[in-house]
Amino acid sequence: MLRQFELVERVKSYDPKADEDAINRAYVYAMKMHGSQMRASGDPYFSHPIEVAGILTNYRLDTASIVTALLHDTVEDTGATTEEITNLFGDEVGRLVDGVTKLTRIQLQNVEAKQAENFRKLLLAMSEDIRVLLVKLADRLHNMRTLNHISKPDKRRNIALETMEIYAPLAERLGMQEIKTELEDLAFAELHPEARASILTRLRFLEREGGDLVGRIMDELDHTIQAAELTGFVSGREKTPFSIWKKMQIKDVSFEQLSDIMAFRVMVDDNEDCYRALGVIHAAYRTVPGRFKDYISTPKRNGYQSIHTGVIGPEKHRIEVQIRTNRMHEIAELGVAAHWHYKTGLEDLAGSQYSWLRELLDILEHAQSPEEFLEHTKLEMFQDQVFCFTPKGELINLPRGASPVDFAYAVHTEVGNTCVGTKVNGRIVPLRIELNTGDQVEIVTSKAQKPSPEWEGFVVTGKARAHIRRRVRSEAHEEYAKLGKEILLKSFAKEGYDLTDDGLKEACDKLDLPSPDDIYAAVGEGEVMARQVLEAIYPGAKASLLTKVVNISKARKKNAKSTESAVPIKGLTPGLALHLSECCHPLPGDRIVGILTAGKGVDVHTIDCESLIELSDEPESWLDIVWDDKKTGDMLMGRVNLVVLNEPGSLSALSTVIAQNQGNISNLKIVGRSNDFFEMDLDIEVTSVKHLTNIIAALRASPAINSVERARG
Ligand code: MN
Repeated sequence: MLRQFELVERVKSYDPKADEDAINRAYVYAMKMHGSQMRASGDPYFSHPIEVAGILTNYRLDTASIVTALLHDTVEDTGATTEEITNLFGDEVGRLVDGVTKLTRIQLQNVEAKQAENFRKLLLAMSEDIRVLLVKLADRLHNMRTLNHISKPDKRRNIALETMEIYAPLAERLGMQEIKTELEDLAFAELHPEARASILTRLRFLEREGGDLVGRIMDELDHTIQAAELTGFVSGREKTPFSIWKKMQIKDVSFEQLSDIMAFRVMVDDNEDCYRALGVIHAAYRTVPGRFKDYISTPKRNGYQSIHTGVIGPEKHRIEVQIRTNRMHEIAELGVAAHWHYKTGLEDLAGSQYSWLRELLDILEHAQSPEEFLEHTKLEMFQDQVFCFTPKGELINLPRGASPVDFAYAVHTEVGNTCVGTKVNGRIVPLRIELNTGDQVEIVTSKAQKPSPEWEGFVVTGKARAHIRRRVRSEAHEEYAKLGKEILLKSFAKEGYDLTDDGLKEACDKLDLPSPDDIYAAVGEGEVMARQVLEAIYPGAKASLLTKVVNISKARKKNAKSTESAVPIKGLTPGLALHLSECCHPLPGDRIVGILTAGKGVDVHTIDCESLIELSDEPESWLDIVWDDKKTGDMLMGRVNLVVLNEPGSLSALSTVIAQNQGNISNLKIVGRSNDFFEMDLDIEVTSVKHLTNIIAALRASPAINSVERARG
């Protein structure tokens, strides 16, 4: 176990100004708080925070980080509180310890690969200070080093999985190659002990076979470099069993080549020498195509820089060579932590290749808030995302601005398609709200529900949008098909032709439509005229088909579009699905009431609609709503009952009057017919009740029309 004075000495060696007193006090405090607690290994518990602090000294972290490491388990595992820590060690340490405690409390029940990325992001998003994450990584590293002391195999396995899926990739993202490699290998040893053992055996065998092949290759590379009058240092290292195993998995082969197990590195003084060394190596050995990568001119996102190349090297062995400067090497190994080391020489980092690191430092030091930090870092941090939970604790990762409908579709398409309502953190809220990180979201579904076109106005995920569109489209398709079939049947009958299935099938090719159903829909939508269908089935047929039929379908199309736009009503909780009821066809200007229907949303009725009588004993479902004047202007449907004289010219008089008054007939249904009269329902597109009233007045003035009433359910 690392002792108090040793720890202080280590810190002082790289940071002479370190606060020795704070470290000593934290040491004593943690020792006191953990008291006689024991580790699974039988060591006193306190050995753990000391070792964690020791690991962090390798990364030359500041006093606050070291103190935090010493205290990191006191709040979680002893009687200490964050307040007490803050009082004793100041705000900065209080905040850091609190951060580590929060991360520890995220209990990862069951790490599945698909969840891992989300958890990694969550950890990143929750780490308000990068040092919190560094302490957590060191904590995990020490726990992995002592994993074998845990007696329950399940528990060991879970910790190893979590390490493999979450902590090792996090270390990589922070550019901390060394920690990443060690974490992976420790986890690998737990998860696949046999595979690891056989790889090690094979490695030893290859080593014995080749003699000191690695040493000879290093020597020759070294000579090549020196001969070009470059000062450099050549090293060779065996890849870890885990990285070999990973490679074997990807390539589905066993390792035979030296290049599969060894990596050689040339370290030089500056950038220019990197390229010079590259030139020397490429001049001396044949290159292996496709293996060259220049991460100096284009660093990896985590700041990693090096040149990688593959050559047929000494003794005709294919080898991989990495070329980098000493500083690049340090950053590759220490990652973000290299920051503290270079704190004094910030201006040295001004060069473009270090801008990632320099920006990070600036932000760490100057950011006002965690959001600002997250917003600015280049660590693919996730301020543009939110993380929500299902009631079972599954994490769902969504873009910022996502609604419960997005959440529902992210859980499952069917959940999205049938969602009717939502509870966020136990409270019923509108489907339209924006979710926040940490929200627990429960989706209420109903088999009777269909996706509402209005959802498209607020969903932000492509998946939700695509499904909503598809559903809305297929419904529209069905409706058009119904209408189109009606139009064709009537038109054909009128012209004296039969509309047969066989005929329609034949027409498909000519009309370039896949199925009879699509012909119906195309006719209903107004894309294909009834006349065209007639001509396709009965070439040469004389077509005098009603133009009115075409008009109807066009009007219908327009109407279908207008219902997709938001209904101009205010006073409603946003997100509730609105339907203008079919019984009374409310229009702007009408006094209206909303009826909340379980599983459907809100039906809008005119206040005098007859269907409201049945609902008079359910006052709780009545919603007080009004039209939103600002949003009117869209065409809505008004329905009137008409009695028209059964004589030539009546129908054209009717359509003329309506057209003169800027109305648009969208549907016409004959409900009764006698020798003298037609009785019909007429759907007219209008902008408001006033518009409709004008049309009704004009119709009443027409001699062809016996009576006109607005339909009342
Ligand atoms: Mn710990």
